Order: sequence, then structure tokens, then C-alpha cells
Amino acid sequence: MLSVEEALQKILNEVDTLEAESVPITESLGQVLAEDIRSEINVPPLDNSAMDGYAVRWEDTRGASVASPRQLRVIDTVMAGSISGREVLPGTAIRIMTGAPVPRGADSVVQFENTDESGNKNRAAGQVGILSEAGPGLNIRRAGEDVARGTVVLRKGTVIRPAEVGVCASLGYRQVKAIRRPLVAVLSTGDELVEVGEPLPAGKIYDSNAYSIASLVKRYGCVPRILGISRDDEAELVSKLKQARDTDMLLTTGGVSMGDYDMVKDILARDGQMVFWQVRVKPGKPLAFGKIKGNRNGRSRTIPHLGLPGNAVSCMVSFELFVRPALLKMMGKTNIAKPVVEAIMEEGVKNNAGRRLYDRAIVEKRNGHYYARLTGPQGSGILTSMSQANGLVLIPEERKEIKKGETVQALMLDWNEEVNLQR
Ligand code: AMP
Ligand code: MG
Repeated sequence: MLSVEEALQKILNEVDTLEAESVPITESLGQVLAEDIRSEINVPPLDNSAMDGYAVRWEDTRGASVASPRQLRVIDTVMAGSISGREVLPGTAIRIMTGAPVPRGADSVVQFENTDESGNKNRAAGQVGILSEAGPGLNIRRAGEDVARGTVVLRKGTVIRPAEVGVCASLGYRQVKAIRRPLVAVLSTGDELVEVGEPLPAGKIYDSNAYSIASLVKRYGCVPRILGISRDDEAELVSKLKQARDTDMLLTTGGVSMGDYDMVKDILARDGQMVFWQVRVKPGKPLAFGKIKGNRNGRSRTIPHLGLPGNAVSCMVSFELFVRPALLKMMGKTNIAKPVVEAIMEEGVKNNAGRRLYDRAIVEKRNGHYYARLTGPQGSGILTSMSQANGLVLIPEERKEIKKGETVQALMLDWNEEVNLQR
């Protein structure tokens, strides 16, 4: 049976980064840039004021102080967005607002606080008293100080975060080229499943996997297409699977273990190409991975198919371990590992499975150390254990027991501010 690392490597070997597309910057958050972003302009475009104040000639303010103000004649006011037609000549000043271009002749700006702008009731009309000496370039933001025209500001391969969206906007880009988001088909299988919103007959359960898995797809920046529920019936399964043909990845849940009606893996082996089945991990042993035939924009191609286990926890954990890295690779990301911290176990954990455990845990930082405790019963159908957890603690396959106080690796699903810690 494959280890987690071997299984993941086989999956990553079969998936490629998708093509680039032009996207509006407002839609690009989390995507990866597929082009260098070069600036056609200086940002800011002109020298401008960093303060509300007076644009002056430094020379005219020499030796100025509260006790000995320098009187200047105010010849104009300039707002952000407009340009003064006047020049600051000796003995004059122009009232200037933050962001407004510095007028000709001025070499510095004295902020209002260092003038008698508001304090001096006896101030003569059209005059201002400067109460402190300026300095060359004081309170002036230089043209091109953020971005110089012609330079590459963002490199191809950069993950677009809010700051990058802002930088693109500051350069005037409305659209950028980015790796497109994978479209991911999500199909639930099982005779026992009922669609949410419907009455629940005896013996049935609601389909939760479609919703948890589609939400994971979304969380990591991809686009889910929920195909609904297929009965454990070959003809129905085959026909539902056809609806995944134009997508970039197919995720099914259920039907990959040893039961009589677990036919997903058989259909994958017959109609597609099975790469592996089963991984040495708990939860999540019955994981099937293969490729099926697809067709996008009239071109035939193969689509990766991950047959996730049916149990509600198993399919989510399998997603984090195997699907997420594959999707991130398809999106052009190079940093595809979940953050891992070293955590001190606050209780002992047994491992009789001979497989690697990923137990649901609450991970907290106290006095500079991370601590982990289990969320309670670890049954692979207990979905509320996922809801309580913010991490998965990794218990190695060769360890029969981890004692309280030992350090383990904790794969962080969320950081603490996001998780519903139930205290
Ligand atoms: P299977 O691998 O199909 O035998 O499913 C394993 C377990 O997961 C069974 O107890 C199923 O009832 C449960 N299960 C399968 N699919 C879903 C689903 N979509 N939502 C919730 N539980 C499911
Ligand atoms: Mg089933």
C-alpha cells in the first residue's frame, strides 16, 4: 500500500498547470499571475504633497520659529487632482492639500500645524506665518517613488493577494493574465443519500459530502460544479460521470471501499485508467486515483479523477492531503503544503492501525508553544469532529503510541482566529 507521500507524488505527476486567461482584477484574488506586470507610468506621476500645508521655498523659511515667524504672501490654493498655474516666487507660498502636485518654484511643504493657519486670529488676509524652518524636499513625495516607469513591478508566478490587486489598479490595469481557476466536478454516490431540503426516509442520510467538498474546492480558489447524487447503479453512475467531461478534475465520494456496491473504482478501472487504490493512512485508506476521458473546447484530454472515501471525515481529510495540493499545482502555485507546526500532545494517542493517523485536534498556542488535544471520538463518520478541529495531528505509521507530552506535527487547517473553538 502506498504511503501518503508516494500517493501524493503519483497524483502530482499527473496534473499540470492550467492555461492563462485574461481576468478582471476584481476577480483575480488568489490566482497566479501569468505575465510580468510592467509599469507604463510613474507612481505617483508627479511630485506631490504628503501633508496639508503650504508649498514654499525652503530659503524663505530659514530661521523661522514660533518666536520669529516668516511672513509669506499666499498666492493660490491647490487641491489633489489639480495643478496650480502659479509659481512660488520669493516671499510667496501656495496653500496645498495632501496629494496635490507641488507647484513650480516650491521645494518643500510646511504642514498647517507649523504655521499660524488656525492659531493666529490677527493674521493678515492673504498672509501666512511660517513657524518652523522647512528643509529640502520636506513633505514632498517624489514622482516614481513607489513605482518608476518601465520597471517590472510584479513577476509572473506571483500569487495575487489584495495588495497585488491594489498595485495592478495603481498602474491602471483593469485586466491581468492569470492561470485560470480549475473547474471541479463533485459527485456523491450512494443509495442511502438524500438531497438536503428533502424529507428523510428511514434508513437514509443527507448528502453532506457534496457540500463540504464543494466548499473546500471554493476555499482554495477553484470552481465547484456539484453533480448531485448518483445511486449505486452502474448505468446512472456512468451517465452522471459524463457531466464531468468538460471539467478539470472529477471528485467522487463513496463507492471506493470493499462493499458489494462500491463500483466507482471498478468503473474507473474499466472506462478510465486506475493509477492507484488505497493509501496507508487513517482516515482515508480507500482512495482511488485515476484518469478519465474528457473533452474541453472540442479537444479530447484526460481528467484526473479522485475517488474519495464516502465517510464524511475521510473525504475531507483526503481532500486536504491529496486534492488540495493537486489543485494548487493546477493553479500555478509552487507553495502547496499546508502550514505545519510542532505541537506538544496534551494526551496520549494510540495507533493500532499500522497506518499514518491524521487525528482531528484543537491546536492552541500558549506561552510560545503549540499544544494539541483531540476533539474527542475519532470515528471517520463523525463530521462534527472536523467542525471542532483547527488542525490534524500526524501520528506516524510506525508508532504504536504517542505519549502525553511528546511533540507531534500538526497540520493546520485553520489558524485560531478562524476556528469555532468550543470551550
Ligand atoms: P461507502 O464508501 O460508499 O461505503 O461510504 C462509506 C460511508 O460513508 C457510509 O457510511 C456512507 O453512508 C457514508 N457516506 C457516503 N457518501 C456520503 C455522503 N455523500 N454524505 C454523507 N455520508 C456519506
Ligand atoms: Mg456507498
